[in-house]
Amino acid sequence: MLAMGKNLLLALVTTSLFAQAPLPPAIPWNGKSRELIAKADNKWITVAEKTAFRATPTYEQTVAYLRQLSLAAPELRMISLGRSAEGRDIWMVVASRDRLFTPETLQRSARPTLLVQAGIHAGEIDGKDAGLMFLRELTVGGRWRTLLDRANFLFVPILNVDGHEHTSTYNRVNQRGPEVTGWRTNARNLNLNRDYTKLDTIEVRAIVAALDQWKPDLYIDTHVTDGADYQYDVTFGWNESTGYSPQAVRWMRMTLAPQLNSSLRAMGHIPGPLIPDDLTQGLTIANLPPRFSNGYGDARHIPSLLVETHSLKPYEQRVLGTLVLMQSALQALGQEGLALKRAAMRDSELRVNPVPLAWRAAKEGGGTPEMIDLLLIESRTIPSTISGTNKTEYLGKPVTVRRAVYHQSEVALSVPRARAYWIPPAWSDIADRLKIHGIAVERISDAREVDVDMYRLRDPKFDPAPFEGHVRVAATPQIEHRKERFPLGSYRVSTDQPLGELVTVLLEPASPDSFLQWGFFHPIFQRTEYVEDYIVEALAEQMLASDSALKGEFDKRLATDEAFRASPEQRLDFFYSRTPYADPRWRLYPIAREP
Ligand SMILES: [Zn+2]
Repeated sequence: MLAMGKNLLLALVTTSLFAQAPLPPAIPWNGKSRELIAKADNKWITVAEKTAFRATPTYEQTVAYLRQLSLAAPELRMISLGRSAEGRDIWMVVASRDRLFTPETLQRSARPTLLVQAGIHAGEIDGKDAGLMFLRELTVGGRWRTLLDRANFLFVPILNVDGHEHTSTYNRVNQRGPEVTGWRTNARNLNLNRDYTKLDTIEVRAIVAALDQWKPDLYIDTHVTDGADYQYDVTFGWNESTGYSPQAVRWMRMTLAPQLNSSLRAMGHIPGPLIPDDLTQGLTIANLPPRFSNGYGDARHIPSLLVETHSLKPYEQRVLGTLVLMQSALQALGQEGLALKRAAMRDSELRVNPVPLAWRAAKEGGGTPEMIDLLLIESRTIPSTISGTNKTEYLGKPVTVRRAVYHQSEVALSVPRARAYWIPPAWSDIADRLKIHGIAVERISDAREVDVDMYRLRDPKFDPAPFEGHVRVAATPQIEHRKERFPLGSYRVSTDQPLGELVTVLLEPASPDSFLQWGFFHPIFQRTEYVEDYIVEALAEQMLASDSALKGEFDKRLATDEAFRASPEQRLDFFYSRTPYADPRWRLYPIAREP
């Protein structure tokens, strides 16, 4: 009894100690966007509004609200994009003035279409509560009803539906509300916002299929970011210098961003650029790789915006900021969306060559960097007896700091655009994933011999720990020209299609988001036939006796390469790899380039 009592007491102390994590001081805020909150007697008030933004609705409550709203508003229709591992529908709400509720009819509409998704990280759920308020005001509430005259709106309230129900008061330690939130990853502990290229998860397969079918003109992914403390409450950005979608980038920079900034400021918010953790070396505007939503959109020519509200701001402020951003984006699209449609069309016809695969910040090359005033929060760095190093303390006082801005506009790695890629039938799972992306894949109905370039993968380095369920690998690809026979059932994937850049990103082994680097081709790194050492010894003696050049090479290697000299395996392999008994396809990447 005594022991139980002690445990109970300990549990109580623990709970009260952790009821609110020791966050840096809150900055007082009273923005004009508070006017957008429904009054208590409004029949359509949301859970977040009703609870003064202490709570966010559960999955069931969210779906129930949307069902009622769809019944009351004929311009809304709920569409299931698929069902999660735990059996929850992933809903998308279509808001269309003309009730165009299929991909085919919606695409024929002259109006541009905005797709906003929330809850890809289910604890970062601002976009869901903002979207519920937005749908109300587009319909029964009436405040923004006219926006649907000029644009269509697609809304995914919760992408990570299982993670959304994995709830706790402790899931988002760095975040000011709501009190109970969902979890970052899905039911298999996979991060959906790393899955856009490899497509392991039901949820991302669902949204990628929706992007391919519904073809939104603008795609917005809403998050909440932690990291440093600063004044901005709504930050947003896009991939600005990959070269995949330059016309869309121009539209977002010249047309969209100024409108979002002015709408947010007018409603009392503090919009800013995406802020990295470390600003000491200046602000780098990064190109996110296509495993992320907005990097993926960029690679497939869907203009895509990443929105990150700031976790240290109160939930009310974050939701209202996200709401103002949605409203402003739909308005911008209604006014200027035809120009964006033309821009995206031109981007999809570009056939970029060479195809860039990685970038670096243009820091070298002289000249004075562009400078920017950043709205930060004063901090100090003091020694810590806890960690034994320094700690940062944020002091709650706004400061303006001038910093250099760097853009990742230099291509660090690129490949010449292949005419096509060939996939043998043994790797049909790769072709299947390409098809989910919407990539046109041709299945060959008879065996063909093709002149191709193939890659021998030298010096593979496997990551020491799994990442997103995969052990990643990087290797040095070396081109070999080969005449290769592709059996019946092989696939030819032309790059002369709008998704040709994405094809290259997925299939070039040097590409960080290739299937190869994600670990889909590990079997090719195995040696699967064996030779006995005593046979290699005998072969080596014969080879040395008959080939003086080989002997010279071996002796030189012994004299100059200490690791080689000390490794019996390497010394034997030196000979074995030069015999016809060695596997000629070892480390040969099976997907070929048609040059
Ligand atoms: Zn996130």
